[in-house]
Amino acid sequence: MKENLHPEYKEVQVRCACGNTFTAGSTKDEISVEICSKCHPFFTGQAKTMEKGGRIERFNKKFKRD
Ligand SMILES: [Zn+2]
Repeated sequence: MKENLHPEYKEVQVRCACGNTFTAGSTKDEISVEICSKCHPFFTGQAKTMEKGGRIERFNKKFKRD
């Protein structure tokens, strides 16, 4: 009883505007976001020039070649 007073950190479903869904830790029951890890590279390419390398760097390289 009175669970709402102390919401627990739990796994919830996150729905992104791009249609992708994934789970994340939150105290909420449901989360909707505009940017997720799936569509993130597109946004960083426009807003920020360089995020931490790795996945995004590889992503950009692939696009330059095409
Ligand atoms: Zn997304």
